[in-house]
Amino acid sequence: MVRQEGRTHAGSPAITAAVISSNELPMTEPTQRRLLLVFAHPDDESVFAAGVACRTVAEGGRVALCTATPGEHGKLGHPPACARGDLARVRQAELMGACGVLGISTIRVLGYHDRLLAVAPAETIRRQLVEVIRTVRPQVVATFDPNGSNLHPDHVAISRFTSDAVAAAADARWFPDLGAAHAVSRLAWTLPVRPWDVLRRTDPALEPGADFVLDVAAFADRKASALRAHRTQHLSMERIFFTKPNVARLLSVEMFRQAFGPPLVARPAADLFAGIE
Ligand SMILES: [Zn+2]
Repeated sequence: MVRQEGRTHAGSPAITAAVISSNELPMTEPTQRRLLLVFAHPDDESVFAAGVACRTVAEGGRVALCTATPGEHGKLGHPPACARGDLARVRQAELMGACGVLGISTIRVLGYHDRLLAVAPAETIRRQLVEVIRTVRPQVVATFDPNGSNLHPDHVAISRFTSDAVAAAADARWFPDLGAAHAVSRLAWTLPVRPWDVLRRTDPALEPGADFVLDVAAFADRKASALRAHRTQHLSMERIFFTKPNVARLLSVEMFRQAFGPPLVARPAADLFAGIE
């Protein structure tokens, strides 16, 4: 289903936000792996977590995605794929295509303004994210690290808001109208450094912060398809992935850092759900 809603903050005009879900039922089967990805822009999910999304689904789990902005200030493509004013709509369509490739069953685009996420009202976005967490009931939430991987202000902001919401979702005193409290078992961050830089220069097992090094080679083709689904962002995808001599390796490994969660027997772990079941 698709529900449209307008949202305004920081004195800016409202932009249209899509709340899109192919399955509104809570994912509450206790033994099913449930992964919630929370990112800032369409394409973040494919760049950082396409492989783990595919792998989780292939293993019988479910993956949900919450994207805070439609990325309306992103690149238009070369030649431009659309007018600037259409980019939010186009990028949301690209996101839906990528999620279809990845098997992500629940997608929410919150509709905050690209590049202005840091000034989103904390109470409003806390409520939105708590609602998502209490609906999806994930054991694992993955988002940007506190420095946003590359210090992008929206990436830093969504990391902050996600940590806030993960804590609030576990506290029944917050938003009792949004359902039963849910304690996430693990919060995972992207690495403090860009994963493609790690893969170029070192063994990821030696990289501080690479607490999870995931073999997603079986899903490299689908990661490539998801990246290409973000057609307006093709210049970035080519620069990061497709023009690199080690593109096969770049598409075959994903890495995360443990923010909190069950202690790891070994670092790096090979499974983002290690120690949870
Ligand atoms: Zn981004």
